[in-house]
Amino acid sequence: MSDSAPSPSALTPGIVAGRLPPEEYAENFDDLHPRLDRHEALVAADRCYFCHDAPCITACPTDIDIPLFIRQIATGTPEAAARTILSQNIMGGMCARVCPTETLCEEVCVREVAEGKPVLIGQLQRYATDTLMDADVHPFVRAPRTGKRVAVVGAGPAGLACAHRLAMLGHDVTVYDARPKPGGLNEYGIASYKTPQDFAAREVDWLLKIGGITIETGKALGPAMTLDQLKSGHDAVFLGIGLGGVNALNLEGEDKDGLRDAVDFIADLRQASDVAALPIGRDVVVIGGGMTAVDAAVQAKLLGALNVTLVYRRGRNRMNASQFEQDLAASKGVRIITGAAPRAIIGNGAVREIEFDYTGDDLKPTGETFRLAADQVFRAIGQTLNGAALPDLDGRKIAVTGAGRTSLDGVWAGGDCAAGGDDLTVTAVAEGRDAAMDIHATLMAEG
Ligand code: SF4
Repeated sequence: MSDSAPSPSALTPGIVAGRLPPEEYAENFDDLHPRLDRHEALVAADRCYFCHDAPCITACPTDIDIPLFIRQIATGTPEAAARTILSQNIMGGMCARVCPTETLCEEVCVREVAEGKPVLIGQLQRYATDTLMDADVHPFVRAPRTGKRVAVVGAGPAGLACAHRLAMLGHDVTVYDARPKPGGLNEYGIASYKTPQDFAAREVDWLLKIGGITIETGKALGPAMTLDQLKSGHDAVFLGIGLGGVNALNLEGEDKDGLRDAVDFIADLRQASDVAALPIGRDVVVIGGGMTAVDAAVQAKLLGALNVTLVYRRGRNRMNASQFEQDLAASKGVRIITGAAPRAIIGNGAVREIEFDYTGDDLKPTGETFRLAADQVFRAIGQTLNGAALPDLDGRKIAVTGAGRTSLDGVWAGGDCAAGGDDLTVTAVAEGRDAAMDIHATLMAEG
C-alpha cells in the first residue's frame, strides 16, 4: 500500500495521524546507531587481537575475514577493508546495519568472552563499507561475457547477491520482482530507523554498477510469467522469492477494521514520505514474537501510540527476536506479555479489544483469560511461501540440496523461500552467492 492510499485503519475511531510534535518524528526515525567517525573506528579496531583461527569468522554466515578487514581499518585503508567484506558479502553495508551481531560474530569474539565487551565488528563493517560507497566506488570488475543468460526471481538479498556474483562472472542476468522497487525485505521489510536515508535503494544502485544486470519490476511468477517460460528462455533460474504470504490468526472477526498484517504496516512506513501522516492507534497490540513483531511494536511506539503491547504465545526465551531486539522494545516502552494466545477479537465493525488465553508449556489454554484494549492490532505470526508450480517442497519451503539445487533441473533457490538456514539477511546473501557459484560451475561445465 502506498503512503497516499488511505489505510483501513485510518477509518477506525482512536486511530489518528500525527500524534507527536513534528520534531519528534525526525528524532524517532533517525539512525539507530550513527556511524563511527575515523577516530572512533581506529580506537575500536585497535581492540582486535587479530586471532588466528578467529571464531568471529566461523560465526559469520558469509565467512568474512573479520580480523583482516579490521587490520585494514587499523592501518588506515578502509576501502581495502570494504573490499575484503564485499568480496564475501556484497550486501555488507546492509548487514552491518541489520545483522544480529550480538548472536553471531560479536557473541563469540574473544573480547566478549573474556571481558563481556566485544570488538564492535558490525560498526566497523559499516564504517568500511560506508566509506567505500560514499566514494561511489564499485570495487569489482565484470569478467568477459559468457553468453549465458540467467533469470533471478526476487530482487531481495538472496536474488541480488546471486545476480551480482553471476554478473561478475560474465553472465547476463535479468532480475524479476513483483514489487515496484527492488530490494525485497531490505526495501520493504526492515524497521525505518535501521536503514534511514534510503540506504536500501542506494545499495541496490551501487550493486548494479557491476553491469550485466537488468531489473524488471512488477513481474511475479504466475500465469503471465511461469517457471517453465523462464526455464526455456534462460540457461538457469534462481528463485529468491521470499515468503509472500502471511499466516492468519484463524479467529472470527479477523477482518475487522484496525487489524492488519505487521509486514504491511512496516512496508507502509518504509515507503512513507511523511511518517507523521501515517495513522496510528492509541492502544496497539502486536501478536507474535519475531523480528517483524518487534519492528512493528517499536515503530508503533515511535509513531506516538500511547500503549503498545506485544503478546507472544510461548516463553520469552523462545522468542525469535534477539535479546537486543527485546531490550530495544522494552527501552522504547513496549510491554511484552508472553505465554498468551489470542482467543477472540471484540468490537463492532472495528476492533476494540482482544481477549487472550494464558497458555501452558504445551501451548494449550490454561483456562485463565484477559483482555487488552486495542484500536489497532498487528498480526506477525509468521509468513508462508506463495506460488504455484514451484519445485518440490520440504515442509513449507522449497527443498534444496548442496548450494541451492532444487528438484528441477536448471532451477536453484535460496533465501527465505528455501528450506534450511535461518531467515536472516546475511544468510540469504550467503545462499544467493553460493548458488551463483554452483550455477556458474554448472553452466561452464555444459560449455
Ligand atoms: Fe578480533 Fe574478536 Fe575476531 Fe578475535 S574474535 S579476530 S578479537 S574480532
